[in-house]
Amino acid sequence: MRRMRVITLANQKGGVGKTTTAINLATALAAVGRRTLLIDLDPQGNASTGLGIDRDDREVSSYDVLMETASISDGAMMTAVPNLFVIPSTLDLLGLEAEISGATGRAYRLRDALHFHSIGDPQFDFVLIDCPPSLNLLTVNAMAAADSILVPLQCEFFALEGLSQLLQTVEQVRDTLNPALDLHGIVLTMFDGRNNLASQVVRDVRSYMGDHVYETIIPRNVRVSEAPSFGKPAILYDMKCSGSQAYIRLASEVIQRERRLTAA
Ligand code: ADP
Ligand code: MG
Repeated sequence: MRRMRVITLANQKGGVGKTTTAINLATALAAVGRRTLLIDLDPQGNASTGLGIDRDDREVSSYDVLMETASISDGAMMTAVPNLFVIPSTLDLLGLEAEISGATGRAYRLRDALHFHSIGDPQFDFVLIDCPPSLNLLTVNAMAAADSILVPLQCEFFALEGLSQLLQTVEQVRDTLNPALDLHGIVLTMFDGRNNLASQVVRDVRSYMGDHVYETIIPRNVRVSEAPSFGKPAILYDMKCSGSQAYIRLASEVIQRERRLTAA
């Protein structure tokens, strides 16, 4: 039987590489035969667009799943990448918090949907959840539903400051909603080797977070930023570019860590 693993990509800062990492890590996992579902929980829908899903084609969305009017299987759409599926998002998500703010169990909507899906024979090996840039009810749902958290961190001056706030939230979610939540790892993104500050940030984050930090560092790479406008993961757009190669290495690290986490 398949064992489904749920990994949430979170960082309350925008523009740090959450969506780019979600798309390309999901693609790289799918490429090595892991059936993968990417759930887009950001109302902006960048992950959906980046995977080539037009707004008009988003008949069932993550909003419907959170409103409990659709199941995970109902929402999962095929993408151009074999083994990769996406539950797209729509702007409806913006209203979700207000709509369910009084409902009991509102933080568990996504967990329950995934749990229901995983009973019997789940379709997926990996579920990746792309979060909005805030610590709102959507992100809390994603953390409550996850086995572990993956944090994309941009190599810039304030990186560590934002990280400690995020880790506090993870701690709170562990204390209240999801005691089994692990920190899967921290991936440094948009690294520019010509910038001394970036190298210093890498050293600082490694000395503070130790082996929670993946060995793979994602370089800043134009090809990676061009790909979404073609509705393609960078790995399909230009597999040989340094960014794509880094995401392929990250996927194999993620799989190795998974083995360790699930064996423990
Ligand atoms: P987030 O989801 O955290 O807001 P994104 O993944 O959307 O961040 O990335 C923010 C911007 O940076 C996007 O325009 C994206 O194309 C660009 N970007 C992300 N990673 C890289 C990279 N490795 N090299 C160059 N540009 C990148
Ligand atoms: Mg994003």
